[in-house]
Parts: sequence; structure tokens; C-alpha cells
Amino acid sequence: MSIDLSSALQRFPRYALLDGPTPIQRLARLEAALGAAANGVRLYAKRDDHMALGGGGNKLRKLEFLLGEARGQGADTVVTVGGLQSNHARLTAAAAARAGMACELMLGRVVPRADADYEENGNMLLNRLLGATVHALPVGADAMAAALERVRALELAGRRVYLAPLGGSTPVGALGYAACAQEILEQERALGVTFARVVVANGSAGTHAGLAAGMVAAGLPATRVQSFTTLADTEVAQAKTRDLTAATLALLGRADGEHGAATGEAAAPAPNDILVDGSQRGPAYGVPTPAMLEAVGLLARSEGLLLDPVYSGKAFAGLLADVRAGRHAPGSDVLFVMTGGAPGLYAYKPAFQ
Ligand SMILES: *Cc1c(COP(=O)(O)O)cnc(C)c1O
Repeated sequence: MSIDLSSALQRFPRYALLDGPTPIQRLARLEAALGAAANGVRLYAKRDDHMALGGGGNKLRKLEFLLGEARGQGADTVVTVGGLQSNHARLTAAAAARAGMACELMLGRVVPRADADYEENGNMLLNRLLGATVHALPVGADAMAAALERVRALELAGRRVYLAPLGGSTPVGALGYAACAQEILEQERALGVTFARVVVANGSAGTHAGLAAGMVAAGLPATRVQSFTTLADTEVAQAKTRDLTAATLALLGRADGEHGAATGEAAAPAPNDILVDGSQRGPAYGVPTPAMLEAVGLLARSEGLLLDPVYSGKAFAGLLADVRAGRHAPGSDVLFVMTGGAPGLYAYKPAFQ
């Protein structure tokens, strides 16, 4: 049973932050650079790093629905959490500026770094430029607990606050990537290509979950999407992604049902259909790996495209490893979702020098 995704998505308030579909590009120079190691796989990039607002990135798709919800509730202030170099925090600041809302960021020290590049450059530099109030928390602080405390204080001062969780990964936020799945399926038809796999990084799971929910809603298997976890252990990331996929599908199904469609239902995917690979995280979240450094350099030199050191660099390293090992069928088309995060490169100067 599938869901009428377009009409279901229209039931949710959305605050436009993108200017239209992001391009899909064939990575022909990369394929040539890989040569025989490409094993006959055709590689493509979905340019979700290519957006006009705040440097762009995957969080803007979630923020369209999160800010839609926030504005529907009459909020004048957005509070969110993340690490010091969180792209989600930076894009929340940019989206709040666009929407005319105040923004406060509760940022934890989750990566073992205390040098000036990490503390002050990259996303941290941009957060302040974008007008956000930045609270850099001490080592070991619980960012969500600090955020809840801050929300209470702001509300006592008369503000109407919307709290977005880590990575914006609620079922409402994941709707942004269900919409992206639909966009990819439309682009497939226009290009005359069927992507055997859509590959993406997994941090707070909303991007994978939204894409998987969008595929399932369209009657396709959730195995069309594969992610590489960069934050949680494989089992934890897999379970979180599965739960969020099911919750996003339930939300879409209810909206479709309200709309009067007969079909407002789609079965939650089986656990084994949520493909989360743990091979690329390395020692910890935000800690560079040799494979990430190689992947970032290779895509930059061969295509002029910038991955990020924390998420897409590790996920792209995973895709390269799978292609080189022949784990994608020869002649298949594989789409990598570039999720943005290039400002993070400036915070990782020591790793790239
Ligand atoms: C947040 C982020 C991701 C991961 O997305 P989730 O929805 O949190 O899993 C991937 N790439 C970049 C650049 C990000 O900022």
C-alpha cells in the first residue's frame, strides 16, 4: 500500500528555504580517476550542498518543515543543540535570520578538540555572523538539559520558543527528506536512470529515515537507501533510523488519510531493510580517518567538489570502498547525497595540512 506523498506533504506547514530542486550530476571525472577500480559503476552526486541560504546543506530541508511548525505555533525564537562545529546549528541560525526569528544555540564539546580552529573558525565563525546567540557549554555538559533550562528562562521573559532537537531529526524534520526522495524519483524519470542505491551519511538519522520513508511511501523498498554512521554505533544508529522511518511514515499516512485518500498507509520497513554501515566512523564522531582524508581529497581534485570532514567525507569513503571492492553491480547507477558541511573544513585545518 503506498501513500500519495505530494498531497500528504502538502498537509504540513512549510517555510520555504530552498529555491527549487538541487541538481544531480554525473561524476565522470571521478569514474575516470578510479579507472578499473570503478568496476563499471556510474556515480552521481545529489547536490544538497548546493543551496543559496547560509552555505547550504541537508539541514535546510528539515528546517523547512521545522520552521513551518514553529511559525504555526507562533514562535518568535528557535533554540537548538549540537556540537561546536554543528552544521545544523549554523543552518538553523541562517534559517531563523531568513524567517525573522531569534536563534539561540546550545553547543556541547563532543569532539576532543580545544584549539582555535575548532573553537572559533568554520561553523562557529558563521553562527555569530548569522546573528545567533551562541552558548558554548563546558566539557561533559548535557546540551539538551541546558537547552530546556534556557527555553524556560526565555519563556519567563515572554518569548515564544520552538526547541529543535539534535540535527532537527524529528518525524516532522524528516519530512524534508521524504520530499527529497520524491524529488530524486522525479529526477530519475527526467534523466532516464534508476539509482540502485542512494548513499548518504548518518548522524542523527533524519536524512536516511526521511529518504527511506519517501521511498516506501512511493512503493519502493527502503533498501534503495544506504547510510554510513558517523555518530552512533551501528546497532544504535540502525534502530534509531528504523524507528524514525516508521514514525515518519505514520505521520505521512495520517496526513494522507486526513486528505481523504483511500490508501493512507504504508508498512514500516523490516529492520533488515534499513541499511546502516558502521565501517567508516573510525575512532569517534568528528575524529578524522585516513579514508575520509583520501575521499575528500579525491573528490576535490577530480571534480572540484567539497565534502565535509565529519559526515559526507566518511560516507563517501564508504561508497568508494564498496565500489572498489565490487560491492555495487557493474553497470549500476549509484547516487551519493552531498549533504554540505564544507565550513567544517576550516575547523579541520590540522588534519588536512
Ligand atoms: C547533519 C549532517 C549529516 C547527517 O544527517 P542526519 O540527518 O543528522 O543523519 C550529514 N552531512 C552533513 C554535512 C551534516 O551536517
